[in-house]
Amino acid sequence: MTKPVLRFAPSPNGRLHLGHAYSALFTATWAERLDGRFLVRIEDTDPTRSKPEFTEAIFADLAWLGLAWEEPVWHQSTRFPVYAAHADRLKAMGLLYPCFCSRTEVAAGAGATDPDGAPVYGGTCRHLDPGRVAERLAAGDPVQWRLRMDEAVARTGVLTYSVGQPTPLDRPQLRYARPLRWGDAVIQRKGTPTSYHLSVVIDDDAQGVTHVTRGRDMEASTDIHVLLQLLLGLAQPLYTFHRLLRDETGRKLSKSRQSRSLADLRGEGWTANAVRAHLGFAEG
Ligand code: GLU
Repeated sequence: MTKPVLRFAPSPNGRLHLGHAYSALFTATWAERLDGRFLVRIEDTDPTRSKPEFTEAIFADLAWLGLAWEEPVWHQSTRFPVYAAHADRLKAMGLLYPCFCSRTEVAAGAGATDPDGAPVYGGTCRHLDPGRVAERLAAGDPVQWRLRMDEAVARTGVLTYSVGQPTPLDRPQLRYARPLRWGDAVIQRKGTPTSYHLSVVIDDDAQGVTHVTRGRDMEASTDIHVLLQLLLGLAQPLYTFHRLLRDETGRKLSKSRQSRSLADLRGEGWTANAVRAHLGFAEG
């Protein structure tokens, strides 16, 4: 029997905080309990925000926490041709279209917000004149490629996925995916041949990931993931959404809100064991 495969997949655009430590420890603990494999994957697809020094710091923080992972570690920035090839398949299926809108234009044309609170795209570029599109592409105008969500959903039909604790003892629940609430999601961002959604499903499949463990804040994006998995013929893992760590004011920890990093805590004298105990992963 093949072993379960679990992964912690941070984006190197800041220092890890306690929320990341919880996610990494949760995943590694389950990998151990299931006698599975524990992978770390560096999700450095955003060329403007990813920094090699953050990648190095991630490895140092995880090692400090006492975690061990398999080598070699995949760095998504080395896999752009693979993501581009999958996006080309979606283009050949007629499911992607180029969008030249700026953030401001997207916000101005939006009628609703998606589950992350971002504006749902109003669809301006779906109706561009094809000659004009060809000109703008040839001129190298910054472009993102969006999914024709209604058409994609019409092709896949009803989509479900399984959610549960990563143990054979827990009977997973079946959930319905609701991709339409995201509108025409971006599949290739400006300046890169991919997006979080595209590369995460491709790599989970390519690495044989059987259990995806991530925070509850990412549950809604499973709508898009299961849709892409079906369109691209990729395997669907079991999903587990763990609790989120909150600060004193009840807000989710976040890099962008400058939550205290593991390095800060280390500097304040916290030991790795103290962090593990604080998060409920104490030894023995
Ligand atoms: N790279 C994503 C992040 O750091 C998480 C990836 C995942 O768990 O699928 O937010």
